[in-house]
Amino acid sequence: MFYGAIEAGGTKVLCGVGLQTGELVDHVSIPTRGPTETIRDIVTYFRSHPVSRLGVASFGPLDLDPRHATYGSITNTPKIAWRGVNFLQSLKNALQLTVFIDTDVNAAILAEYAWGAAAHLTTALYVTIGTGIGGGVLVDRRPVHGLMHPEMGHIGIRKDSSDAFPGICATHVDCLEGLASGPAIAARWQVSSQDLPSDHPAWALEANYLAQAIATYIYVLSPQRIILGGGVMQQTALLPAIRRAVASNLNGYIARRELLTEEIDHYIVPPQLGQLAGLRGGLWLALPSMDMEP
Ligand code: ADP
Ligand code: ZN
Repeated sequence: MFYGAIEAGGTKVLCGVGLQTGELVDHVSIPTRGPTETIRDIVTYFRSHPVSRLGVASFGPLDLDPRHATYGSITNTPKIAWRGVNFLQSLKNALQLTVFIDTDVNAAILAEYAWGAAAHLTTALYVTIGTGIGGGVLVDRRPVHGLMHPEMGHIGIRKDSSDAFPGICATHVDCLEGLASGPAIAARWQVSSQDLPSDHPAWALEANYLAQAIATYIYVLSPQRIILGGGVMQQTALLPAIRRAVASNLNGYIARRELLTEEIDHYIVPPQLGQLAGLRGGLWLALPSMDMEP
């Protein structure tokens, strides 16, 4: 029995096929364009790779309230062509399958819980720092849904007095995403974030902003582990700088050994599933034992 998985992102859509064990047996990458062309390519892939159920890990914001007629739609994304597109329903109609959907980051934390760095935990967090910043949260082993889903990249941050950069979030200007996403780093320093050397002051500022956010997430959610993924985290100097800045920010208030210098390396960690955490999360959503359909 094969299960289908999709991770839909701003630049590419990964489509894959896997087994009940969570193993992926095939996957491809499709460039994200308008919904018509992109969904057509996804449907073509699954017509040639038949699956019994399909799980979708998608960019958002998403309507995840199953009582709504618009359940499974993309809501007010800056990707105008995708606004109001019912991703879930389009796939159901075209493929005549049972389809499950959650945010890319909720899916990533589910996959890390099932097969990676959050195994055996009950409350854990996956944050991606890439083109945008977003977080997926597992509380009592379930991803958080409520009014919609958490939007952890858009929280307020105290700006450093040395930072004259205004921020680039289209809605809030200087929220976390506006100050610390990959495009924000590039706009502030006029150099793409992958081209900034590891000793550039950009990284201390980046660690400061991310640590403020992570301290807030720790106070609000009390996660047992925090997983940091996304393109910006490929700068290897960043993770150790974030760990130091989080410890300094908490200033001993959370008196847990996980936050001590010698233990924090196991508390704030990279994704164990690497770049495929989101796609593996799509697969997790499709598995029958994980039945999450409303
Ligand atoms: P997406 O957010 O579209 O899923 P990514 O998570 O790969 O994609 O994030 C892309 C962002 O990560 C871009 O802003 C890019 O400049 C930045 N990035 C990619 N590689 C690196 C790197 N090695 N060091 C720092 N930043 C990087
Ligand atoms: Zn914002």
